[in-house]
Amino acid sequence: MSDTPLSDRYGGDDDEIYGSTAFGEPLPKSGFPERERNPRFVYSAISDELMLDGNARQNLATFCQTWEEPEVHRLMDACIDKNMVDKDEYPQTAEIEARCVRMLADLWNAPEGVATGTSTTGSSEAAMLGGLAMKRRWESRQKAAGRPADKPNLITGPVQICWHKFTRYWDIEHREIPMEEGRLLMTPEEVLKLCDENTIGVVPTLGVTFTGEYEPVKAVSDALDGYEKETGLDIPIHVDGASGGFLAPFCAPALEWDFRLPRVKSINASGHKFGLAPLGVGWVMWREEADLPDSMVFWVNYLGGNMRDIALNFSRPGGQIVCQYYNFLRLGHEGYRKVHEACYRSAQYLAEEIAQMGPFEIVYDGDMNRGIPAVSWKLKDGADPGFTLFDLADRLRARGWQVPAYTLPANCSDQAIQRILVRNGVSRDLSTLLMDDMKAALDHLDAHPRKVALTSEDASGFHH
Ligand SMILES: *Cc1c(COP(=O)(O)O)cnc(C)c1O
Repeated sequence: MSDTPLSDRYGGDDDEIYGSTAFGEPLPKSGFPERERNPRFVYSAISDELMLDGNARQNLATFCQTWEEPEVHRLMDACIDKNMVDKDEYPQTAEIEARCVRMLADLWNAPEGVATGTSTTGSSEAAMLGGLAMKRRWESRQKAAGRPADKPNLITGPVQICWHKFTRYWDIEHREIPMEEGRLLMTPEEVLKLCDENTIGVVPTLGVTFTGEYEPVKAVSDALDGYEKETGLDIPIHVDGASGGFLAPFCAPALEWDFRLPRVKSINASGHKFGLAPLGVGWVMWREEADLPDSMVFWVNYLGGNMRDIALNFSRPGGQIVCQYYNFLRLGHEGYRKVHEACYRSAQYLAEEIAQMGPFEIVYDGDMNRGIPAVSWKLKDGADPGFTLFDLADRLRARGWQVPAYTLPANCSDQAIQRILVRNGVSRDLSTLLMDDMKAALDHLDAHPRKVALTSEDASGFHH
């Protein structure tokens, strides 16, 4: 081996890729590699390995973008060196971010000229920042009134994991309204049962992860108005609009969920979900400067200027934000409405087809006034078709489709549900192909019944 010239062992420039001795043995998987390798071979090996991830366009579990226009690919490439935190060194990228913030203030109906906000890496970081601002504001209020500020609590419905992270990382009691048979969402009545002087805020979700439905932000806001009249306690709302923040303004404009409601002090949304930007961008907006405590703002001057920094990260890529701006300009209200309405049409078609298959009951059918372009369903109560939703998910996987089945959170954890997320690119045509495969899967399961008991391991296979 040691006599073999390096070029042979690690791939010569003229070698056919798979004929080369460089592919004669597996690449290192754990020990830190000793030597250099030819980029062509390494690139091929890694590209090949990525095939095993499956086809993202058939991943109907994710809420995130899996298709982008060619112009977005070009902008991402042009922005590979943009660091979002270096606002002084990349002032135009910083300006583009600031424009997006102003456009979002407009989109979410903030009072003229007073809203503030920032891009983040996603809704999770945005939720941390929005949540932290609520905690700080509550602490100041308690201290000013000479009351203890050591037992904060946060009220949510059945939420995405980022709120569990927020409450756990920052030692906040999480009062999560449990689901009940027939009620899979937050209601004003349930919120009021949990409020007290230590409640830092209430977080309704616009597009609940488990079913896709919008929680009733206005009804909760009205209920909290009543609560304030009775008790003097002013409890703010932060809306988790991870999905809905980029859907409702275009497809359900009459729905009041945003800064039109004075009690809504902050909103987060994922640019990389229905904002249609590539992975890695979210947004958090505060109704006005006063809603963002000064203690959360850092002024950074060692890169040459004096720049405001509100973030958990320091360095982070700017391309996603530039592409978010591209989408705002390229699509506008009109384009976003067209893209999302096409998704809702696919969702409704899927819901009708699935309802007709027999064993299923639709939980949410992709109604644009009620939630996001998604369909969720369960097995009909009492039905025993000889398979579980987990079996069906497995069969569909054989054709490359990822249609997750999972169990609901407390108190409905014995209820399995299955969901299709319809994103830009899940066309009507692709939907018909999926339905053909689903019918074939049902025929297969009919012919080969396979009843597997639901284990807690199955239940944890839930995709966000
Ligand atoms: C996806 C999602 C999140 C987390 O967002 P990321 O952008 O993935 O960090 C939070 N809340 C809801 C409701 C979501 O759907």
